[in-house]
Amino acid sequence: MSAPSSTSPSPGAAAAEGAIQTDVVIIGAGPCGLFQIFELGLLGIHAHVVDSLKHPGGQCSELYPDKPIYDIPALPMCGAQELIDRLLQQAKPFNAQFHLGEEVTELQALEDGAFLLRTSLGTRFHARAVVIAAGLGSFQPRRLGVEGAEALEGRRIHYKIKSAADFAAQRLVIFGGGDSALDWTLELAGKARSLTLVHRRPEFRAAPASVAKMRDLVSGGSMRYVEGVAHSLMTEGDAHDASFRGVRVKRTDGRIEELECDHVLTFFGLHPKLGPIAEWGLKIDKRAIVVDTEKFQTNIPGVFAVGDINTYPGKKKLILSGFHEAALAAFGIAAHLNPTKKVPLQYTTTSPIMHKRLGVPD
Ligand code: FAD
Repeated sequence: MSAPSSTSPSPGAAAAEGAIQTDVVIIGAGPCGLFQIFELGLLGIHAHVVDSLKHPGGQCSELYPDKPIYDIPALPMCGAQELIDRLLQQAKPFNAQFHLGEEVTELQALEDGAFLLRTSLGTRFHARAVVIAAGLGSFQPRRLGVEGAEALEGRRIHYKIKSAADFAAQRLVIFGGGDSALDWTLELAGKARSLTLVHRRPEFRAAPASVAKMRDLVSGGSMRYVEGVAHSLMTEGDAHDASFRGVRVKRTDGRIEELECDHVLTFFGLHPKLGPIAEWGLKIDKRAIVVDTEKFQTNIPGVFAVGDINTYPGKKKLILSGFHEAALAAFGIAAHLNPTKKVPLQYTTTSPIMHKRLGVPD
């Protein structure tokens, strides 16, 4: 949990004052987190869902939205984004509240048996149970990978843009060949004082129409294009704001070119990182959380883990496995929240209670 002594409960239940009160927080809105909403909902349990990405869908939406999946039961072929859209639609009756673009950074056990969670944006939850459906971890931007870049992050070296206006009338170098790099190149080309796009190879992952527009801008003299990779930063002495002059690029032909600029914008895509989860006192084996196979509970009672993030004998990192885990975790959570109440198994086909929860007219 947040402190090294994390498994021992904190005395400060008062620390949860002003936090969002909820039965369950689901960390991760990938396919397994989304199905977890549904399985909890069937048992009458409401959840808040947090994801560090700005959109639900996890790996399916972030890494392969247009690729077909062939091993989802009863769907012989389903696009990865289509699967996410269907899961969102299926979970809709349960009105989960989404908190997107926020990473859960802290998880702390409280004396009352509940948990206090905190996100990168400062949102706090007081939850009676937690499901970690964090996949391979939270997605982080791939870094520029040159010495000194870290010290200038957010001031001269950027991995995300809040507003194009921040870069108006500035000298810019943009790295990348995907949609984000090309979209921002087209957006900023008319606003920047100068703009150079740098990409390591002639092929682009971005939409062909965007690449064609970029080439038109280059032909028209509105911007430059250089084929190469980042070599080093141009700084006088240590890398700091005032000493920054630009970036050196190693061109495909081996020459080093100096590109003077005010800001470097880097769009190399995102990659998942276990991140803060590793510090929450959970039993971890090879970057995955160890769970039982009855309830998919971790070594911390009340904290469950489903999907790619968990491990147990025979684990297979498949969406199908995560769906099964979410169903059993929901029963485990229901028992955790109400230890004296037996949770009967009911069929969605015939159960009037489930019809009511699903909004199915009788
Ligand atoms: P993920 O999809 O990884 O989602 C986890 C989410 O948690 C992410 O959105 C992440 O941002 C968020 N998160 C992590 N940490 C935090 C935090 N601290 N705070 C907030 N949010 C956090 N599987 C199949 O079954 N069939 C296939 O055909 C198939 N094809 C694949 C093809 C490719 C190219 C790839 C890469 C994977 C494929 N998979 C396939 C695997 C499948 O995508 C994963 O098994 C599945 O996405 C796991 O779902 P998940 O919900 O556990 O995690």
